[in-house]
Amino acid sequence: MKTLPFWLISLCFLSVSAISQERQQLFQYSTINSLLDGNYDGHFSLKKLARKGNFGLGTYDKLNGELIAVDGLFYHIDADGKAHLATPDMKTPFAMVNHFTTELSQPLKENLELEQLYQYLDSLITRTNHIQAIRIDGTFRKITVSSIPAQSKPYRKLAEVNAREQTYFHYKNLQGTLVGYRFPDYMDNLNIPGYHFHFIDANRKFGGHVLSLLTGKGKVDIDNLPQFKMLLPDDEAFAKQALNFNNQEMLEKAETNQKK
Ligand SMILES: [Zn+2]
Repeated sequence: MKTLPFWLISLCFLSVSAISQERQQLFQYSTINSLLDGNYDGHFSLKKLARKGNFGLGTYDKLNGELIAVDGLFYHIDADGKAHLATPDMKTPFAMVNHFTTELSQPLKENLELEQLYQYLDSLITRTNHIQAIRIDGTFRKITVSSIPAQSKPYRKLAEVNAREQTYFHYKNLQGTLVGYRFPDYMDNLNIPGYHFHFIDANRKFGGHVLSLLTGKGKVDIDNLPQFKMLLPDDEAFAKQALNFNNQEMLEKAETNQKK
């Protein structure tokens, strides 16, 4: 099937006032603990997600690869690390989006590793109890990203799936865009506390979940989001999950695990 310009279709449903009301809002579907616990069934369509923002990240039904949205285009990064335009009927079990508006723009510092990039961003962000959307366009001297193949039932927990099946891609001197968020620590049962980035190259051909990098020249744009809207799944699996667990160890395994 040919990919449809569904971002245009979805924009038709949005009035200008609805856009301005949601301008400072992070929209999230489901919670990180639901995903960590192994609820990978996607029930929220990309068509609906695209109405909530033009920038964001997440995953797809059955944990099939990585989701990255930039400039209103939603991409599916498959398990081979290749990017394809998503179709409106695709579904997500966990995603977050916002209508990106630059509130602060700064040059990217060069030769920063990921932890140093986080420290640089910390120095730019003042509203640390709000959610920040962060876009970084530039050259990356090195970048390692990951993706994941679709899972079948019974689903295993995310840390176990990542340890066994995550796929890794290493690139050098590559132009592209980082799409990410910073969540305050107090929201740690709802989303990943601190920073979380997905990457897509400048030609929008490949990408993934960011594990490590070394920055080159570029630009950082930050959007402060004081509003947080969360829609929770309405399926049996979600209804039965115990979601109030301490996720620190699972997050470390699931989100930063990297084979050398
Ligand atoms: Zn990710």
